[in-house]
Amino acid sequence: LHRNAGEKEFHQAVHEVLESLGRVVSKHPEYADEALIERICEPERQIIFRVPWIDDRGDVQINRGFRVQFNSALGPYKGGIRFHPSVNVGIIKFLGFEQTFKNALTGLPIGGGKGGSDFNPRGRSDREIMRFCQSFMTELHRHIGEYIDVPAGDIGVGGREIGYMFGMYKRLTNRYEAGVLTGKGLSFGGSRARKEATGFGSSYFVQRMLETRGNSFEGKRCVVSGSGNVAIYAMEKILSFGGIVVACSDSDGYIVDENGIDLDLVKEIKEVRRERISEYARLKGAGTHYIKGGSIWDVACDVAMPSATQNELTGSDATTLVKNGVIAVGEGANMPCTPEAVRIFRDAGVLFAPGKAANAGGVATSALEMQQNASRDSWSFEKTEQRLAVIMHNIHDTCAETAEEYGAPGDYVLGANVAGFVRVAEAMRAMGVI
Ligand code: NDP
Repeated sequence: LHRNAGEKEFHQAVHEVLESLGRVVSKHPEYADEALIERICEPERQIIFRVPWIDDRGDVQINRGFRVQFNSALGPYKGGIRFHPSVNVGIIKFLGFEQTFKNALTGLPIGGGKGGSDFNPRGRSDREIMRFCQSFMTELHRHIGEYIDVPAGDIGVGGREIGYMFGMYKRLTNRYEAGVLTGKGLSFGGSRARKEATGFGSSYFVQRMLETRGNSFEGKRCVVSGSGNVAIYAMEKILSFGGIVVACSDSDGYIVDENGIDLDLVKEIKEVRRERISEYARLKGAGTHYIKGGSIWDVACDVAMPSATQNELTGSDATTLVKNGVIAVGEGANMPCTPEAVRIFRDAGVLFAPGKAANAGGVATSALEMQQNASRDSWSFEKTEQRLAVIMHNIHDTCAETAEEYGAPGDYVLGANVAGFVRVAEAMRAMGVI
């Protein structure tokens, strides 16, 4: 603990994985001998850098940039970049740690990493965003490459930001290295279905999990927190599965529409106009409510999909959801449920899909983007989505089978942690103590 003082999200993520590993070490004592667990908890490399830029008023602004290259046993480091004022080294380390196991679960050749900055994009002009991305890449470009480290988007980083970063990388290196970043625009090496992949994937996972109990999304009342990239496409896939989404949110509050959320309007507000979710209630009027602050988890539902940020769903939220009859929870975000919330769901017998399994569809499709870039190919939406669906089903089944094998049937948290760990650990053992 003292080596990573103050990094509370990192401690939380490590603790959750280690809790699952007792059963692995009793089956594989060699992992304990080679200090594998300790090595896996230590990032291979952490880069922290200054990001100076000039705002529209001509003032100099200074932010801090991060890239944590956590584990490259299975392939080049791979993981998103987050721009949010809350970003610090502990948050990037927790995300990089989770990413390592998530990427292993996809079965694709990608290691784990994560990056970002405490830059707040809210209210910034397009020019400011561009200058910030260019300055960020001025340092980051030294540390990445298609065989080294391949960043993508995360909170506050979407197609626009990836475009500006790719442009700067290309200029600085004088290389058209499409495979250095994923989540690119379709006109310069992006993959179809990448934008949709994380949200679609989390709904595919939950649908399969519901099927294990002879159930499905059909006719289910769903609440999805957030209204960003993951939330929007989780909602889209839930709707196509016949579910009804009644609420979504942003960091200021949440909207409830008992007639079912009008997703086209949410997309218009968030993706095109880049406005607040409160606009939805203003434009839609009757039958719709906007609640400033408060907890979206007060809205009764059958399926909850927390898809905004870490620790957004607390123990008391979980108690409310259970009281209101929730049957399944799927983490679209990374670690959105607190440990207490996860315990409450487990004790109540609620189906629970942990983020490192349920939201792996984004990075899996990023790996498919890398495949397309490497072969200078471009696949159709249908082909890419089909691959995504198969990958999500495989991840689900791997977690379910591993949980069973290790004596905890139905425990997807244990299944995901153990299956991810074993894949990384086997590769690390084979490569010796490095
Ligand atoms: P976006 O920036 O597109 O959207 C984030 C959404 O969550 C916004 O609605 C935002 O509201 C809300 N939000 C962010 N921070 C907070 C907060 N502190 N409190 C309450 N609400 C908040 O990000 P993504 O949709 O890409 O990411 C969402 C989650 O999914 C993250 O945990 C991310 O790590 C995870 N994830 C993303 C993947 C991807 O492919 N994009 C892949 C796998 C996981 P506001 O606009 O008000 O800030």
